[in-house]
Amino acid sequence: MKVIIIGGGIAGLAAALALKKNKYQVVVREKKSFYNNSGMAFMIHSKTINEIHSLTDTELDLTNSKVNNFILEGNKNKHNRIELKEWHAFKRIKILHFLHSQLTDDEYYDNSDFSHFEYKAGEAVAAIFKDGSIEYGDLFIGADGINSKVRNSVCKAQFFQNEINEIVCISKHKDKNTHDSTFKKYLSIKKGMSFGFIPISENEYVWFLQFDSKLYNSIFQKSSEIENDINSKLLSEFPKEIKELIGNSDLKKAHLWKNKELKLLSSYHKANICLIGDAAHGSISLTSSGVSSGISSGIKLAQVLNSSESLKSALEEYEKARKEKNAQTIKYAQRLKLQFNKKLIDIDNYYLPLFHKP
Ligand SMILES: Cc1cc2nc3c(=O)[nH]c(=O)nc-3n(C[C@H](O)[C@H](O)[C@H](O)COP(=O)(O)OP(=O)(O)OC[C@H]3O[C@@H](n4cnc5c(N)ncnc54)[C@H](O)[C@@H]3O)c2cc1C
Repeated sequence: MKVIIIGGGIAGLAAALALKKNKYQVVVREKKSFYNNSGMAFMIHSKTINEIHSLTDTELDLTNSKVNNFILEGNKNKHNRIELKEWHAFKRIKILHFLHSQLTDDEYYDNSDFSHFEYKAGEAVAAIFKDGSIEYGDLFIGADGINSKVRNSVCKAQFFQNEINEIVCISKHKDKNTHDSTFKKYLSIKKGMSFGFIPISENEYVWFLQFDSKLYNSIFQKSSEIENDINSKLLSEFPKEIKELIGNSDLKKAHLWKNKELKLLSSYHKANICLIGDAAHGSISLTSSGVSSGISSGIKLAQVLNSSESLKSALEEYEKARKEKNAQTIKYAQRLKLQFNKKLIDIDNYYLPLFHKP
């Protein structure tokens, strides 16, 4: 069986490796150029690292990736320290490189923008790309992210109302990090905002400023204007520690992340087209679940394809399993949004994303 994967993000690459391991012929087609698809960074649980390792004969370099503590700073100098046992932080590009390096040149093509499918007797026979190229296959996987185009050929998507957006950036220091592998988060820096930072290498942090979109969308509108918005309107509001982090950041590279959250889709597949990762179950970044669920969905799909008698029964089994997980994440996201929007934070009962095991 030849499987065409549309989208070479983390879910698409993980699915390709899982399928390849089970002797499927795979082709990944990615819209962007590989070197222009990097992103920032995220936390991942050791369970997800084990899943990544199960896909290859080599292992990720885990040097400086471990995050050992989480400190939550609230109002009136109240804080809460929690020991983390199994969490790591990685730059997105590092995971992409690792997965991509396991594919051959004829298994991965970048600069390939998907346009539409060609059908015969109700089944897709080929994916057509905007440059006119055609990829014939037996199964087509949509791994093209939250704004998936493949999804339009499977079902109609609905989104929750956007409530929380964030600015993400990397801060680089001359000296070694001083925070001892600690993820630190300040709550309610200014009403309706929180600020967190996580070490991602010996001298770098990824930081994020989460904000209530109703209150601050009028300030933060474009990535290109964030530098001015932060410097002129907000910097004085931040504690010294955060000012330093922002001062060591190239704010021109700051990214304004407008969260999009899918409602549960009516279906994850139609005929021989199937969705994985954010295309199937994109959630808000507050849940810290995108990377782990993207990898798990690719692996699950490969598993059921291998063990089921027909493509139809495999896709039905896949959908059932993943929908259950997705329904849990949706519930969990609602709880996190409520907590954020309450603004009066009860630090001792703070519900922490990292305790939601992938
Ligand atoms: C550029 C980028 C940066 C990110 N940075 C972060 C981050 O710093 N922290 C974090 O927690 N999460 C980040 N994410 C999201 C995170 O990677 C995903 O939530 C998670 O890994 C699930 O991945 P996915 O492969 O399902 O979706 P995605 O990571 O969104 O990957 C989808 C891929 O499909 C490609 N694609 C889209 N349309 C087409 C098309 N028409 N034809 C072909 N290919 C197409 C996209 O270019 C992308 O590479 C980022 C995503 C992207 C795309």
